[in-house]
Amino acid sequence: AFEGLAERLQGTLQRVKGKGKLSEADVKEMMREVRFALIEADVNLKVVKGFVKKVSERAIGQDVMNSLTPGQQVVKIVKDELTELMGGEQSKVEFAAKSPTVIMMVGLQGAGKTTTTGKLANVLRKKNNRKPLLVAADIYRPAAIKQLETIGKQLSLPVFSKGTDVSPVEIARQAIEHAKEEHLDTVIIDTAGRLHVDEELMQELKDIRALKEPDEVFLVVDAMTGQDAVNVAQSFNELLGISGVILTKLDGDTRGGAALSVRSVTEKPIKFVGMGEKLDALEAFYPERMASRILGMGDMLSLIEKAQTNIDEEKAKELEEKFRTQSFTFDDFLDQLGQVKQMGPLDEILKMMPGAGKIKGLENAKVDESQMGRVEAIIYSMTPQEKTNPEVINANRRRRIAKGSGTTIQDVNRLLKQFEDMKKMMKQMSNMNQKGKKKGKMP
Ligand code: GDP
Ligand code: MG
Repeated sequence: AFEGLAERLQGTLQRVKGKGKLSEADVKEMMREVRFALIEADVNLKVVKGFVKKVSERAIGQDVMNSLTPGQQVVKIVKDELTELMGGEQSKVEFAAKSPTVIMMVGLQGAGKTTTTGKLANVLRKKNNRKPLLVAADIYRPAAIKQLETIGKQLSLPVFSKGTDVSPVEIARQAIEHAKEEHLDTVIIDTAGRLHVDEELMQELKDIRALKEPDEVFLVVDAMTGQDAVNVAQSFNELLGISGVILTKLDGDTRGGAALSVRSVTEKPIKFVGMGEKLDALEAFYPERMASRILGMGDMLSLIEKAQTNIDEEKAKELEEKFRTQSFTFDDFLDQLGQVKQMGPLDEILKMMPGAGKIKGLENAKVDESQMGRVEAIIYSMTPQEKTNPEVINANRRRRIAKGSGTTIQDVNRLLKQFEDMKKMMKQMSNMNQKGKKKGKMP
């Protein structure tokens, strides 16, 4: 997602980044390009105007023009304002003081409500230790109930359903009762959608809502629909009232308009983003990280967080230390390989690396996971000394390792090269992080 926008903004900012002096004309020229980039990314026009005005005012301000590094200051301003545009801080899920917490999922047909109901339950269970109950309140399509039941089964989570004869309101009421009896503390109601916002749908949602004021009403919208998504959000917010937005399909080639406009238009935060069809592809939304990602500063924090939910804390800390001190060995690599397998498809992880957006072809890259088996075999054939100090692996040893692992010398060479490259990249990454820490948040 966001490739076009990212490329344009990065290009524009790159030109001024190193400049020691900026004239007002420079800033104006740059803002023209920023404006163009945003419009092309399908950002709401009002939002674009407001954004450009704010950035211009700050950029032309005395402090920037007179500073030693005006170019970098402008980049920082763009990043800050992008962050602000998307809500500033991360917005967390509200839980009720008294269980159960009730979360309503609303939105148009096909937006991703049912899938996201499952994904959200999964996240809340993993990260917040919640005990969710999924509720099938979309009674208009029998397939919808089936779909939620299948998702529940896949995640080993309970699903409450009453078929298609009981009204959605009654289903919701019984589900809340059921949750109390079973000590399930988070009720997530998957409601019906429509092709368009209509009166009947809104009435049904209002009736469910009137049962027990939900702690969250999440509007699920498809990021691929751009400004339409924003219009839908505005309607739902005015007619029903929503507490937050979940943007789905951000893994596709969406231009970014919805992510950048929805907060500003509705005043409601984006809480999560859907990053794929799989049930673990839902991420908390961090405005600052998204801004960094758009400006090509990578998304190491998301990556590290992803690692942390899947890898235990201790290990993650150890790993960071090893990154920093460059004492990463093939044993660690092997260990990582195992952990990475649990994190999800490698190509997705790769895309989060800084600068990955610039690697041509990566968007279509599919990492060959069977390759991983070969890699493991090669490492198993190394001696402890070789694993710790790969520089000792000479031609003779390479031959022995290839033989021992049933691979070829080329395979061994390739792995050794990859390992070296990886170490170099880690060094760069940890340098970047260190600098980031010293200078505030800018890399
Ligand atoms: P609903 O009609 O709102 O309940 O939508 P569904 O949950 O049935 O989802 C519609 C389609 O969108 C399904 O094929 C989902 O797999 C797909 N989908 C949902 N979220 C995402 C996402 O974040 N990324 C991608 N690529 N597909 C998604
Ligand atoms: Mg559905």
